[in-house]
Amino acid sequence: MTELATPPVEEGTGVTRIGHWIGGRSVAGASGRSGTVFNPATGRQTGAVDFATVEEVDAAVQAAKSAFPAWRATSLARRAEIFFRIRELVAARREEVAKLLTAEHGKVLSDALGEVTRGLEVIEYCCGIPTLLKSEYSEQASTGIDVYSIRQPLGVVAGITPFNFPAMVPMWMWAPALACGNTFVLKPSEKDPSASIWTAELLQEAGVPDGVFNVVMGDKAAVDAVLAHPDIAAVSFVGSTPIARYVYETATATGKRCQALGGAKNHMIVLPDADIDMAADAAVSAAYGSAGERCMAISQVVAVGDVAAPLIEAIKERIPKVKVGDGMDPSSEMGPLVTKEHRDRVASYVENAPGEGATVLVDGREGVLPEGFFLNPSLIDDVKPGMRAYEDEIFGPVLGVTRVATYDEAVRLVNDNPYGNGTAIFTRDGGVARQFQFDVQAGMVGINVPIPVPVAYYSFGGWKASLFGDRHIYGPEGIDFYTRGKVVTSRWPDPATSKVDLGFPQTR
Ligand code: NAD
Repeated sequence: MTELATPPVEEGTGVTRIGHWIGGRSVAGASGRSGTVFNPATGRQTGAVDFATVEEVDAAVQAAKSAFPAWRATSLARRAEIFFRIRELVAARREEVAKLLTAEHGKVLSDALGEVTRGLEVIEYCCGIPTLLKSEYSEQASTGIDVYSIRQPLGVVAGITPFNFPAMVPMWMWAPALACGNTFVLKPSEKDPSASIWTAELLQEAGVPDGVFNVVMGDKAAVDAVLAHPDIAAVSFVGSTPIARYVYETATATGKRCQALGGAKNHMIVLPDADIDMAADAAVSAAYGSAGERCMAISQVVAVGDVAAPLIEAIKERIPKVKVGDGMDPSSEMGPLVTKEHRDRVASYVENAPGEGATVLVDGREGVLPEGFFLNPSLIDDVKPGMRAYEDEIFGPVLGVTRVATYDEAVRLVNDNPYGNGTAIFTRDGGVARQFQFDVQAGMVGINVPIPVPVAYYSFGGWKASLFGDRHIYGPEGIDFYTRGKVVTSRWPDPATSKVDLGFPQTR
């Protein structure tokens, strides 16, 4: 590995070289393999991201391993102080990182700012780490004997993250991991990697010691090196379901703790008594926000009874008003998709829908901006189980509508779906809403709320094929994931009660 001169720009090409961050420094990759980073609004290449080798991943792990003893021993008061500083720096510079997100992901600037703010909430939660790590103490559990529990960090932990939240999802991982005293190796998405280097520099400025936070760029080879590394104790993953399953199975097979969050197909049930305008506003916002590239996006509306006609009319009215454009333009509400390949894949669902028996009511392939990876919002009616448009996670601005006769049919659809990330119900009937929360098989439920991403002091995670592992991410379960318990049974020497006793210890 060679150290990079800063700034890491190749003169005259307009293309930024994006390397790794190991032991507190930018490090250029030596593999000779790299990926292409685009500005999705223009379609032009803006970056070349190095892909790490096994040796480079190992260098990051060794840096994290060396930093662990001192970071683990750093007092809770000092760690909290550093987290307050991180909080202040991220809050002050959120525009800066939001612009990086818009430039590489494509989401509009206001949405990018929203992403950073939701990530910031997780950092704020972690400022309370002294309270979060308080444990239990039982005095006089037996005569002269006290018992208490403590939670200790795991060691070196790794995070592997998707393209759609390049700042927030890493924050869901590194913030609780570091606050708990672990050291960290991040493998971000190769599609929009710059926010991770921005984060590394910010953490250094906030006082996080070198080696505590490291970034390795790369593809499957880097992920496999992380999964195989014997010095990594735990892996957090967020991405698509097939890779989540693979990461979970591979990581746990090598004895690592793993939480692997996967894809989604989020249904929004609208009952006949729902407020139509509110439901239509929610469906349009949740289906097309961030061009549908959210794991909590609503991709399927389930219209119950006679609500379908007025609801579809209300959604159709709103779609032409969604302003699609370059995310840097403050008037844009929806940006492009992340890559040309992904845009074309999403468009193929609209193309194939009529052949499957569905009805395209609004065709987002019409009138698209000529440059970049744009696609306009699409609306497809009569989407049913068995169709590709129903079965697959499309991950784009395509909203399907399924018509059913009853509430029971609607819930069955959600429960039969292999995914179980988020779901929502729109109704004015509190009793039905309560029944829904009882019946539905999904990890996050919205009642008249279309994107029920839990606040930072709860935990985020789906059911079924949307999460492999038994702990959700961030919040109390995040603290639990990044620590392990130890129970101490203690007695202070009292020669008066000392004797030889070969029986099993008794407490009474
Ligand atoms: P992805 O699965 O393609 O990639 C995620 C990560 O895995 C990236 O870092 C990537 O480099 C790596 N990766 C890709 N292919 C790999 C392979 N064959 N072997 C090993 N590693 C590999 O996901 P994406 O396209 O970046 O993100 C979109 C997906 O993420 C969607 O399915 C979305 O629902 C999901 N997602 C889920 C959540 C959640 O909380 N459940 C949140 C955000 C995104």
